[in-house]
Amino acid sequence: MTDDTTTETKAIDRYGVMGYPISHSRSPVIHRLFALQTGQDIQYELLQVSPEKLETAVRQFQRTGGKGLNITVPHKSEVARLVDQMSDRAATAGAVNTLAFNGGEIYGDNTDGIGLLRDLAVNLGISLKGANVLVLGAGGATRGIVGPLLEMQPASLIIANRSLSKAETLVEHFSRSGPVSACRFNDVPVSDSYDLIINATSAGLKGEAPPYPAAAISKSTFCYDLSYGLKPTPFSAWAREAGAAQSVMGWGMLVEQAAESFKLWRGVRPETRPVLKQMSISA
Ligand code: NDP
Repeated sequence: MTDDTTTETKAIDRYGVMGYPISHSRSPVIHRLFALQTGQDIQYELLQVSPEKLETAVRQFQRTGGKGLNITVPHKSEVARLVDQMSDRAATAGAVNTLAFNGGEIYGDNTDGIGLLRDLAVNLGISLKGANVLVLGAGGATRGIVGPLLEMQPASLIIANRSLSKAETLVEHFSRSGPVSACRFNDVPVSDSYDLIINATSAGLKGEAPPYPAAAISKSTFCYDLSYGLKPTPFSAWAREAGAAQSVMGWGMLVEQAAESFKLWRGVRPETRPVLKQMSISA
């Protein structure tokens, strides 16, 4: 007699984050905490992928049954080429930080902007209406945050970048959404003080502090570094030294944008505050 009771082993759904470099990423910890909190069984991997291998690596992850990916430095603009469909906010940004694999299709989303806005407005209580905002950097992360920042109706938004042409391209892209302009770091106008300065360069990842415009900081300026670390990042240390009212690293944005990705993949939005606390970071 044969025993026809078969034990089906259900494969655990696989997710991951792709970037270059990637070892600094805390996304695996955050998604594990989300999974525990919401009772989901998932696996989340750290995937170091150089720019020339991006397409092969994404397609291989999809082919081998992967369900979704976060995409980080420096791939957010390039990966937008690979998606079959994308959300309005990813299309507006022209950059993708979240992929979902549904059957043979790749769906792209961008959760950076909503992640930053939730951290600023909900966790930190900052209002952007009528504010003068300076964004340093013009890469994939800036593409994701400029549209949502402009929706908050700031009085002005200046994008300063090492390569002026990249900042100008973004200004062209967003000029119909609000009062946005471009310049180099050493041409940042300092006649008006800034309410909010956001560092969206990746210079801190290499421990570098570019010639940020110290004169743009007044004692009422709130400085926000998208980069984060266990020790102060070069930008957040610089901002404190230059006399900023407050200098905050991007942990809150990291957790908030991750929660939006998790919601897209699993259909449930985890609570972010306990995760921020569990990571021993104050919200
Ligand atoms: P990209 O690689 O797309 O862009 C990098 C940007 O940094 C470019 O504007 C580049 O200028 C500038 N840059 C790099 N090195 C230097 C330097 N030495 N001096 C001056 N400028 C420099 O990266 P992303 O936009 O995707 O990410 C930017 C940062 O934001 C990263 O540190 C990333 O970790 C962080 N981030 C954090 C998030 C969070 O949730 N907290 C979410 C998203 C991003 P140029 O154009 O001249 O090359």
